[in-house]
Amino acid sequence: MKCQKAQVKIIPFLNGELSETEAQKIHLHLETCSQCAKEAEVLTRSWNLLLDLPEPLEIPNLVPQTLDSIQKMQQETFVKKIWAWIMRIQSPLTATTALAVGLIFGVFIGKSLFTNFLLNPPTEDTLFLETFEDFPPNSIADVYMNLNFDQGDESL
Ligand SMILES: [Zn+2]
Repeated sequence: MKCQKAQVKIIPFLNGELSETEAQKIHLHLETCSQCAKEAEVLTRSWNLLLDLPEPLEIPNLVPQTLDSIQKMQQETFVKKIWAWIMRIQSPLTATTALAVGLIFGVFIGKSLFTNFLLNPPTEDTLFLETFEDFPPNSIADVYMNLNFDQGDESL
């Protein structure tokens, strides 16, 4: 048997995957060929070293820890805090009081905004209907259209 052919079958031989006759041929070759025998010895030692390695440490499961951290971070936002506070309210009386306080606060803000609106009504020049025309007056497009086309021609 040639070395090239034998070396392909060394690993299957070491694994015991060859038929009895083929294994016998490889065994005979290894006894007569020092190069292939050395190759087989190196492979065997490497395999034994791998078997001697300690078992890998168990990877800690970080998913629950990470999810807890994310949940904590989310709860630290202002809205979540308020929501958590509201959800913790057990007594209907406390809930009603909180609702009433919110309502009064809202009415107060709305009233002050409306008073401000009445005191400083929006001026007339806030919005022109011309703003919604195809070409706002005195815009570049308006001037261009006036220069190039008849003003009464709406078909363009
Ligand atoms: Zn050989």
